[in-house]
Formats: sequence, C-alpha cells, structure tokens
Amino acid sequence: MSKVKHRHSKERGRKRRTHYKAEAPSSSSCSQCGKLKQSHQICPYCGYYAGIQVKYIEAAEDRKARKEKKNKTS
Ligand SMILES: [Zn+2]
Repeated sequence: MSKVKHRHSKERGRKRRTHYKAEAPSSSSCSQCGKLKQSHQICPYCGYYAGIQVKYIEAAEDRKARKEKKNKTS
C-alpha cells in the first residue's frame, strides 16, 4: 500500500467535498391509485407494485374505526 506523502489543507478537502450532494429519491406516480410514490418500491397507499397487489394496506377510515372499537372495549 502506498502512503500519502503530504497532508493537504482543510480548504482543499472542503473544496473537493462541495461536489458531494444528497440527491432526493426519485419518485413516480402509482399506476393503481395515481399518488406520488418512490420508484421501484411498493406503493405505501395501496400496496400495489407493477399492477399486482403485494401488500394489504388498511384504508385510513378502517384504521380509525378499528382504533375506536379498541378504545371502547378497554
Ligand atoms: Zn398506489
């Protein structure tokens, strides 16, 4: 392994790092529900991927109803 001969300045390192940027994840609209979702990922709103239901996603109203039911019993 070769060794670094000279240290370089903070400025030099910082200048190099100006090119390092965080990219926003690419997004596309869901073919099933049309909502914006991350590409190559299951839609978090309907659970579909490439036109196939992969995951069951409970609707917001159903979730609310279930929570209320749970609160009544306890
Ligand atoms: Zn969807």
